[in-house]
Amino acid sequence: MAVYNDAMCKKCRALGSKLFLKGERCFTDKCAFEKKPYPPGKDRTSRGRKSSYYEHLVEKQKAKILYGILERQFRRYFFKAKTQKGETGENLIKLLERRLDNVLFRSGMASSRKEARRLISHGHIVVNGRKVNIPSYTLKKGDVVSFSKKTKEREDIKQTFSERVKRGISPWIVADLDKLNITFSDIPSKDDVQPPFNANAIVELYSK
Ligand code: SF4
Repeated sequence: MAVYNDAMCKKCRALGSKLFLKGERCFTDKCAFEKKPYPPGKDRTSRGRKSSYYEHLVEKQKAKILYGILERQFRRYFFKAKTQKGETGENLIKLLERRLDNVLFRSGMASSRKEARRLISHGHIVVNGRKVNIPSYTLKKGDVVSFSKKTKEREDIKQTFSERVKRGISPWIVADLDKLNITFSDIPSKDDVQPPFNANAIVELYSK
């Protein structure tokens, strides 16, 4: 499982995008990116003009850190996207969005993708009635994801899930608060997702 241990808020500030790496804190005014929207360190102007290679590299970094994926796995996603019909950048986003850990975050079942990976690897998550402990598991349209029977009994889980759903979740996911589950009702497009990175720049980078 991918693990990024560096100070997470610094990554958002260094890359110039909110990457939602710290759970609930990211939705509050305590967000470091909101408070200090400039790069960490003494040189606040370091986002000056850079080479196009560097800029493309930054877009890839943003995507990898956002989804919590290390280089090898990210590269595999890219080559899979390339072999599929259609635009590679669009395909790449669709593949990344179908990851189970990402869908848990987008549905409000987890406060962050990192928490989602913990819930999945500790056996708290069930897909179509079967326990799944692989964070990168790829969901299909119509898959139903829920907490395990034992986890559903936890009051903290019910409460936080309900609060997040009421705050708003991605429109391609349907939540059922009574059954404590969600349906991945559609595979989102790039326009639906509006990712904080430029997928075409990543395609260009790997095509060099
Ligand atoms: Fe990024 Fe803000 Fe979340 Fe920190 S709190 S990880 S800066 S989005």
